[in-house]
Amino acid sequence: MKWEKKMKRIGIIGGGAAGLTAAITAAGQKNTEVFILEHKEQAGKKLLSTGNGRCNLTNEDMDASFFRSEDIGYVEIILKKFGYGDTVRFFESLGLMLRSRNGYIYPRCEQASVVRELLLGEAKRLGVTIYTGMHVTEVLPEKRGFRIFANDAQTGGGFRKRFYADKVILSCGGRAAKVLGSDGSGYSLAKAFGHSLIPVVPALVQLKVKEHPFKTASGVRTEAKVTACVNGKEICSDTGELQITGYGISGIPVFQISRFIGKALYEKASARVIIDFLPSMDEKEFTGYLLMRRLGKEKMSVLEFAAGIFHSRLTVCLLSLSGISAKKRVEELSEREIYRFVRQCKRTVLTIRDTNGYDNAQVCAGGVSLREVDCGTMESRYMNGLYLTGELLDADGMCGGYNLQWAWATGYLAGKHAAEES
Ligand SMILES: Cc1cc2nc3c(=O)[nH]c(=O)nc-3n(C[C@H](O)[C@H](O)[C@H](O)COP(=O)(O)OP(=O)(O)OC[C@H]3O[C@@H](n4cnc5c(N)ncnc54)[C@H](O)[C@@H]3O)c2cc1C
Repeated sequence: MKWEKKMKRIGIIGGGAAGLTAAITAAGQKNTEVFILEHKEQAGKKLLSTGNGRCNLTNEDMDASFFRSEDIGYVEIILKKFGYGDTVRFFESLGLMLRSRNGYIYPRCEQASVVRELLLGEAKRLGVTIYTGMHVTEVLPEKRGFRIFANDAQTGGGFRKRFYADKVILSCGGRAAKVLGSDGSGYSLAKAFGHSLIPVVPALVQLKVKEHPFKTASGVRTEAKVTACVNGKEICSDTGELQITGYGISGIPVFQISRFIGKALYEKASARVIIDFLPSMDEKEFTGYLLMRRLGKEKMSVLEFAAGIFHSRLTVCLLSLSGISAKKRVEELSEREIYRFVRQCKRTVLTIRDTNGYDNAQVCAGGVSLREVDCGTMESRYMNGLYLTGELLDADGMCGGYNLQWAWATGYLAGKHAAEES
């Protein structure tokens, strides 16, 4: 007589990038029954907004140096187990053709919706059940396995449903962009098992400026080098398109440095940003250029003279910050004033009063400490059979497909190991 092997029930809380990858990986193995509890009306909602609707799903240039964590060595271990090549193979196996834009990997069709559809299609093919509208409030360990409690949105959240799972994978994300599903509830679920959090702050986010000197230049986009300066120390820089907004600064270079500013503000340290509005020239070159440029333009106003270097509204702000009247004639401009203007263009210091908050952030920095999970399997060190993945954990990547790579990698490892014999 042949004994039928007992099916292992794997419950996944959160149907985002990490949760869907975990589900597909686990369901692809023998004797598993996989379900996802997702509180939004559909799984994978956030994916639709990624990469401006095109989903930058990984990057050819992939290693731990593009991430930040209190335990970066663990990030390295995880990326070695599931790196760029694994992500490419995973999506190609789902039928997705990819394309590289300077190393940033997108679906060839440039539709994030297709990434979501392929993930959902594969989950369905493998028999994964997705319960939507289920807000998980509690996960309780039992003698064997776990009891999961969820409020059913279809009953206005009033009806509490119970689910049983042998293994549970927490894939709830952080608290960035709540409207897309991640409301921070995953942190409470993890804490209930004794997990601790590395302080969570918004990252990949715009910055609000104190006494904003460029308010009148709101809407202007310009190439600039942006440097984060914490307690007087320059921490990191990025160069790219800076966007000036009514409240402060935005754009990719601002996003890239924002997690350091977020951390500094959380720690009540002094948080400043230094902007170089002309990164292609050093101070000496720019000064020499202006001294040459003024020849033959002596009767022009300073504003006319500076036209063609920066956007006119930005020039007005920079002149005013340098203490130079825009109406002044070039012949009246002293060399000292030229140096002052150059200095201002190359090194404007802005004091940051806040980030633009979780709702506008793409990710969170901080989260459950990586020391508290086994980075080979993503299993909790505090609770056997519980796995943690994705943005819930203390690791955040730069813009460029790194955060999704983290979600795929940790989701894959959790799904694989949760489904293993135990
Ligand atoms: C606008 C935007 C653009 C982005 N673009 C990119 C990009 O191009 N490339 C890139 O690499 N990264 C990008 N990111 C970041 C990336 O989307 C995230 O890092 C990634 O989605 C995190 O995956 P996750 O599965 O851990 O969490 P999430 O994708 O946030 O998924 C968590 C899921 O859990 C559900 N959930 C949460 N709590 C509960 C609960 N209690 N009960 C039931 N369900 C719950 C949520 O509804 C959600 O579906 C972007 C983020 C945003 C906001």
